[in-house]
Amino acid sequence: MSPASRPIRLVFLGPPGAGKGTQAKMLEERFGARQISTGDLLRQHVADGTHLGQEARGYMDSGGLVPDSIIIGMMEQQLANLDAFVLDGFPRTVGQAVALDEMLARLSKPLHAVMLFEASREMLLRRLAGRWTNPRNGRTYNTEFNPPRVAAIDDQDGGPLVQRPDDTPGVVAKRLDTYEAQTSPLVDYYAKTGLLVRLDGLKAIEDVTADVRRALDARNGAAV
Ligand code: AMP
Repeated sequence: MSPASRPIRLVFLGPPGAGKGTQAKMLEERFGARQISTGDLLRQHVADGTHLGQEARGYMDSGGLVPDSIIIGMMEQQLANLDAFVLDGFPRTVGQAVALDEMLARLSKPLHAVMLFEASREMLLRRLAGRWTNPRNGRTYNTEFNPPRVAAIDDQDGGPLVQRPDDTPGVVAKRLDTYEAQTSPLVDYYAKTGLLVRLDGLKAIEDVTADVRRALDARNGAAV
């Protein structure tokens, strides 16, 4: 497939562990569409000990959502100077989606599609339990489905992988409940706009990649 002929602006929607980050990194590498992961940004704030990180940490550790006001302020700074992006893990509430619509209208940067990664709760629990993350860039592996060549070492930068503190079974269950309660209403929100594309997040990584690319091609040809 040829690269998209215009900047790609996407939202990746779906529960934790459905593959959003993996596919966002693929689009970043191949099409230069910057992955903006609110989770990665927040973890960086926590690691740096910023005021924002201190405010966010308790919500993250418990599997709840960080308040909209914090998230929206953080995203306004991110989006101002970008033409092509994949939003990974934002928006997560209807309030955030409305704020995003307003921001993008102001910037004259409409979204091209919202891709929904669907997966069963049982599979998400398995995926998150086996997930190892590169804390330097958010790249993930899975001991069962996508293992690194050497255990706990990133194939690409050779540095250590870690298990995220919120990937423990108790917090994972809470995060999935939070998704159902607060984020899944966005499926209807975006279905009404005609932007929603449903993807089967249970397929093998490369098959999901092929589906993402097909959806992009279809959208790229359409007058959005
Ligand atoms: P993630 O890496 O996307 O799984 O996000 C990790 C945690 O960061 C979540 O469980 C939330 O506590 C917080 N978080 C990330 N993105 C958002 C968002 N858009 N709104 C509120 N909280 C968020």
